[in-house]
Amino acid sequence: MVKAIFPGSFDPPTNGHLNVIERARRIYNEVFVVVATNSEKKTMFTPEERYDMLCEMVKDWKNVSVRLCDTLVVEYAKQVGASVLIRGLRNIDDFSYEFDLSMMNKTLNPDVETVFMPTDPKYFVLRSSAIKELAAYGGDISSMVPGVVAEAVKKKFSSGIR
Ligand code: ADP
Repeated sequence: MVKAIFPGSFDPPTNGHLNVIERARRIYNEVFVVVATNSEKKTMFTPEERYDMLCEMVKDWKNVSVRLCDTLVVEYAKQVGASVLIRGLRNIDDFSYEFDLSMMNKTLNPDVETVFMPTDPKYFVLRSSAIKELAAYGGDISSMVPGVVAEAVKKKFSSGIR
């Protein structure tokens, strides 16, 4: 029984994230998608909004659940008995950042193994920041994010919150 966590900001979640979750859930018995709430980053969506969107996205998958976490992710992995920490990789820039992060996490908790999952080529250009920027200029993001997210982004911009 191997449990995995997939942590991130998910501001907002994209089809690239969903693809990683979908593939991970075929490999691991249980996958926890973990919305990190203690990020220094200024976010467009509150942790609860990101949690709700992700819940809707994974609702048909019995072995996937969404969690909010305000501790270190390796601490969270320990709490839920997860031995694998999944991170998605799009390119070499992701790799340099993620590799350093994995070294730090290994030092913090040697029992948790970071596993990198390369993006599906269909999604390699997708990143949450670019999607927000595109939406801010009225661009069509419907092929990049699930319907629930496209709606939520549209609502944010129409309410004037960015
Ligand atoms: P963070 O803000 O912690 O970098 P993100 O919410 O941006 O996290 O992403 C969470 C994880 O998903 C990261 O490992 C990131 O590399 C990965 N990821 C983001 N977009 C994609 C994508 N299009 N394909 C594959 N992995 C992705």
